[in-house]
Amino acid sequence: MSQSSRPVTQIVAPEPVVEGAGVHLRRSIGTRRLDNLDPFLLLDHFESASPADYKAGFPYHPHRGIETVTIVRTGEVRHRDSLEHRGTIGAGDIQWMTSGSGIMHEEMPQVRPEGIAGLQLWLNLPAREKMTRPKYRDLQADRLTEAKLGEGANVRVIAGEASGGRLLGPVEGLAVAPKFLDVTLLPGTAFRETVPRGHTAFAYVDHGDLRFGPEQTAVHGPALVVFGDGDIVEASAGTGGGRFLLAAARPLHEPIARYGPFVMNTRAEIEQTLQDLRTGNFIRDEARDE
Ligand code: FE
Repeated sequence: MSQSSRPVTQIVAPEPVVEGAGVHLRRSIGTRRLDNLDPFLLLDHFESASPADYKAGFPYHPHRGIETVTIVRTGEVRHRDSLEHRGTIGAGDIQWMTSGSGIMHEEMPQVRPEGIAGLQLWLNLPAREKMTRPKYRDLQADRLTEAKLGEGANVRVIAGEASGGRLLGPVEGLAVAPKFLDVTLLPGTAFRETVPRGHTAFAYVDHGDLRFGPEQTAVHGPALVVFGDGDIVEASAGTGGGRFLLAAARPLHEPIARYGPFVMNTRAEIEQTLQDLRTGNFIRDEARDE
């Protein structure tokens, strides 16, 4: 049976947002227009060479019920948390944090000549895992499998597998089976990759002019490209090439109750979260490193 190419169903222009203590971002998931793409809850693109846009950072704040994935392309983000975990996410590195029942942390982009660039994605946790132990995966650039696929596609595998299982990313075994590929296409080249049928899939193009899907829909970055169902995602690059994050995951089909950095299933669980914060019961467990 021939494999069907996933059609482009929506192209979303990121909205300018000011978040944290004054960081200027482009948000494409988690807006009034697109509340979520189950199980993806938020997608922020930060990129600026002007310190005023990013240096205020994200001072101490809590999270519960989600995973936050931070992909740094340029510059450096320092972080520390309520559980004595601290470190630096540098260019090419990724931090995959499972907030579980609760974590307080700060994320501070450092002022550097090259500025800052990267993405932050929030992935929902299934109801049964929302109150699990917090966990960090600090994925240094050299831990990521990187390969040339076909002609001119450079792929870094962050989560799941790629190329029919020949490449494996460091993040596996999660309930929503995420597949995250960081893809760079040289001018005039093409890329195709299987994505499990029924899973939600999108591409976020930070730069370049690319074409996606069976209709070769033209997309100019920055833009979020949402795919309908099918077996494979196809992309090709025009004369300038381009870069995108391909992300796919199994939808949860569970109710979403969100309030800022907390995402639970019911309003009552959000109320409980706020009460836990007021009464000093928010932090429950030590984080584990992996
Ligand atoms: Fe955070």
